[in-house]
Amino acid sequence: MDKQTILQEHFGFRSFRDGQEALIDAILAGRDAFGVMPTGGGKSLCYQIPALLLEGLTLVVSPLISLMKDQVAALKEAGIPAAFLNSSLTAAQQREVLRRAELGAYRLIYVAPERLLTDSFLAFAAGQRISLLAVDEAHCVSQWGQDFRPNYLDIPAFVHRLPQRPVLAAFTATATAEVGEDIVRLLELQEPLRIVTGFDRPNLFFDVRRERDKAAWLMNYLQQHRDRSGIVYCATRKTVEQLCEKLRAAGFAATRYHAGLDDAERRENQEDFAYDRATVMVATNAFGMGIDKSNVSFVIHYNMPKNIESYYQEAGRAGRDGAPADCVLLFSPGDVITAEYLIQNGSDREQPDEETQTRLLIRDRKRLRQMQDYCKTDGCYRAFLLYYFGEAHRPTCDRCGNCVQQEEEPAGETVEGDITLAAQKILSCVRRVERKNGVGLGETMLVLVLAGSRDKTLLAREYDLLPTYGIMKDCKRPLLHEYVRELVKQGYLRRPPGDYDVLKTSEKADKVLFQNEQVLWRHIGQKKQTPQRQKTTAPGKPRTADQDLFERLRTLRAELARQAGVPAYVIFHDATLLNLAGTQPASEAELLAISGVGEQKAKKYGQAVLTVIADWKAEQQAQKSAGAKGKKEPQPPLRLTPEQLARCELQPKGVSMTAFARALTDLKEEGDPANSPAGSSPTGCWRRDI
Ligand SMILES: [Zn+2]
Repeated sequence: MDKQTILQEHFGFRSFRDGQEALIDAILAGRDAFGVMPTGGGKSLCYQIPALLLEGLTLVVSPLISLMKDQVAALKEAGIPAAFLNSSLTAAQQREVLRRAELGAYRLIYVAPERLLTDSFLAFAAGQRISLLAVDEAHCVSQWGQDFRPNYLDIPAFVHRLPQRPVLAAFTATATAEVGEDIVRLLELQEPLRIVTGFDRPNLFFDVRRERDKAAWLMNYLQQHRDRSGIVYCATRKTVEQLCEKLRAAGFAATRYHAGLDDAERRENQEDFAYDRATVMVATNAFGMGIDKSNVSFVIHYNMPKNIESYYQEAGRAGRDGAPADCVLLFSPGDVITAEYLIQNGSDREQPDEETQTRLLIRDRKRLRQMQDYCKTDGCYRAFLLYYFGEAHRPTCDRCGNCVQQEEEPAGETVEGDITLAAQKILSCVRRVERKNGVGLGETMLVLVLAGSRDKTLLAREYDLLPTYGIMKDCKRPLLHEYVRELVKQGYLRRPPGDYDVLKTSEKADKVLFQNEQVLWRHIGQKKQTPQRQKTTAPGKPRTADQDLFERLRTLRAELARQAGVPAYVIFHDATLLNLAGTQPASEAELLAISGVGEQKAKKYGQAVLTVIADWKAEQQAQKSAGAKGKKEPQPPLRLTPEQLARCELQPKGVSMTAFARALTDLKEEGDPANSPAGSSPTGCWRRDI
């Protein structure tokens, strides 16, 4: 057994998170360790994995009964023998735990700090080989922290009473510098390896841009940030070479780095960058391991990376000094093809056995899809990333391209703006969709059309052929949503009763469209009033269809948890369920490719999970074929009288919807007696608009 195998087989993770490996290695090498990692950042693995590799017992000091219980339950689920000792157990139960522990039944024992210096526990500990003492929520030792627990101060005394000093490892999610110093001093850590990780990096500004001319955009950016230093990541060596040349020719102090260069040049270029002799490093992902330049002001991804793990790791090289820094991803559809190629031909494909190869391929493709989701989200980029790594974040931030509006407005003050032009574009777009297919469209789709998205549904409905497609692509999507809602509020757009997802233009819209009526928007400056996102577009949440499967999996999880008598997340984390709902695995191999599903869990719950997914898929399929039949019903707006059709001068075949819609415009003045009379149905009013 090695740490990688344990990680995979017991915990279902394929790779370590930032900081974990270093902490584990330190502990295994007999060095004290101190890790500051965010909640959900995987700090428990930092001592649980060594516990399985070290000879002897690992003690974990933990402040909360509920925490201990959950951790022990989770370990048992992962096939790791563990127990806890705290006041929730009767005296007899406690004796039983100690008796079994003496027989070597456990790898880890969780213990409350109050128990350490009791006679019975000291007697037990004296007879054990304790190789690691892990202190969870170590900030409890400091009076500076919020959760000071005086008994944490007993820990050093306890250690002194042991026949042999174990390795000490302390972990916390929240430690200011002051608390950190306290932890090291009060717990008497000896030259610990200190690792501080946190997934949220508030000083980083995240953005994704679709630029037709990436090089031009980049040069413009560099021009504006001449005095700053940063990295430009490219997908291939060739791009590195070409781009670096281009930048040098334009007078930028650029250097390059990729695995194709000889050692001497790589070293030299890296040094040039480290010492700011070259301010721009153009590199493949080979660059970065072990570099510790703290003043990297920007990380531009010239191509989309293969997965979010790589992206966040590479982007995270910006702003280590805490200063504001930019992380911009320049996305183009071609990047997906390159990434797909790299996955297909990557080093993972050299795995000896076919099954492993397949499993890795499935995993990589899934990650690539998630990476694309990030590029396409109109929600908060930060929230998306943090959600991906299992960290909760409010749905918006004020440091990402989707959250920050283009124009700066005074925070908290009422401002009034003329949004007539935006209103005209939006209303015209809705009107054209109405003409095109006879019904309106949902807010989300409307925003996608205005923004010029390549969304599949959008393309299938041929909305990209509308003249208004992409007409507001320079406008940030949250702002587009705001505009749309404002137009609803002011009555230019209607949500017909009982049909909340569909927006239609009202008669009032004509005044804006044809008579240049001014539309004003009075609102509070955006910093105080961050746009509220719709539930359906919350970052990282599955889309509606997946949402249904997610709910079913949650129900299953609740039942499994009830049967096992453990908290639900011990069975599967929410993130794992989201993954399951999103990827819908059909076999055990596919199931194992999902982060958070180890072999133990696959064995225990795999069948139940796969059954729920298979049933759901079958239902979806059935609904789809039923729906397809239903769709053959003629759409009411297309039922024109023969006279009207004649006036459209259309050929029976080969007419695009756009041409048809244009022809229909001529009918604007006329009502349509062949269809539902005005007012008798929700669609009556809009029809009179045409
Ligand atoms: Zn944001």
